[in-house]
Amino acid sequence: MSVAQLPSYLSKENIGPWHIYLQQVEQVAPLLDKALWPWVETLRRPKRSLIVDVPIRRDNGVVEHFEGYRVHHNTSRGPGKGGVRFHQDVTLSEVMALAGWMTIKNAVVNVPFGGAKGGVRVDPRQLSPAELEGLTRRYTSEISSMIGPDKDIPAPDMNTNAQVMAWMMDTYSMGAGRTVTGVVTGKPLSLGGSLGRPDATGRGVFVTAREAARKLNVPIEGARVAVQGFGNVGEASARIFAQHGARIVAIQDVTGTAYNPTGLDVVALKRFQLENKTLLGAPGCEFIDSAAFWSVPCDFMVPAALESQINRHNADQITARIVVEGANGPTTPEADVILAERGITVVPDVLANAGGVTVSYFEWVQDFSSFFWSEDEINARLERIMSEAFHAIWTMAEVRKMPLRSAAFVIGCSRVLEARATRGLYP
Ligand code: GLU
Repeated sequence: MSVAQLPSYLSKENIGPWHIYLQQVEQVAPLLDKALWPWVETLRRPKRSLIVDVPIRRDNGVVEHFEGYRVHHNTSRGPGKGGVRFHQDVTLSEVMALAGWMTIKNAVVNVPFGGAKGGVRVDPRQLSPAELEGLTRRYTSEISSMIGPDKDIPAPDMNTNAQVMAWMMDTYSMGAGRTVTGVVTGKPLSLGGSLGRPDATGRGVFVTAREAARKLNVPIEGARVAVQGFGNVGEASARIFAQHGARIVAIQDVTGTAYNPTGLDVVALKRFQLENKTLLGAPGCEFIDSAAFWSVPCDFMVPAALESQINRHNADQITARIVVEGANGPTTPEADVILAERGITVVPDVLANAGGVTVSYFEWVQDFSSFFWSEDEINARLERIMSEAFHAIWTMAEVRKMPLRSAAFVIGCSRVLEARATRGLYP
């Protein structure tokens, strides 16, 4: 099939995450070197996908079943790499899309990994700590044939954290009969984790935002920032922006939208959220309707929650000069067009949120060599990789007159397909 032809399954109505990923690939395919065209189909097909049943015994003695997934999208450049998500809306389509974006992301920052992702369709807020541990261990055991330190290395994603990674590492290690720290990243420091990993995604969001702001002459000092999502990525992004003199005017999580045009106290708000399991009622702010978040007057908007949050229904309301994608897939292709027409610069997910997997790579290297780096060293290396990737993408976007997302995809897809073409077909 010619790369210019749109397959029928890419109808406008069919906008699940995997189809959004496919649309992005279709858009960029004609821009790739012609020599790579015969290999583009590789990007449209995950290498392997596993669906697993995850039964757990609830605290009340009843056995309950959940559906889990692990997808290797591509391993041309190295072992699979990508997080594990626990969320009530996880689907195979979503995990496939997230794995595809990992393939591009890892190539954009040039870490020697392919793309993978996993997830379990479960609302972890409904589980006790013991149930969460049981779910994590059974899921790990079910996907154990897919993972390994030189095969596929999971990490945290939405609703998973260092403790979940510790259980995954332990479960895998028990099966292997030895401690294998390098099988997951984002672990606690005491188990081979890396300094700087918890803040890495947020730090990368800030670095790419700062570089875009320099190019567009938008000062960070005093800039107004609206952040959707107040988990690992949203919180660290907001905090680091604030540390550099920006004003965080709005923060939205699943429970509410905190607003204060003179600036929110990010640290106090996080403490309140952890203690009360909600943002509602936090002092020093007012609460606005969740839909009103999108029209909040701001200079930067950081979507750091789920996919497709910026879409044709709200893209025309956004006031920001720069959208920095902390989440994976937060902007639909239709919204991309609207934002571009309105002159809003989008720093795409495969670049903006790549700080997490970049420090995951550092963690994996440190585990292999059993030699650990200082936090300054980690942050300096992260800063260098993120700003070099930013400038390569910015330059390509300028020279070839294309959006940053297209430039990032051209660079990422070319690296993947060059590896694919050079390796050739087996057998
Ligand atoms: N879940 C993160 C992401 O979407 C990190 C993945 C990793 O460190 O492997 O990029």
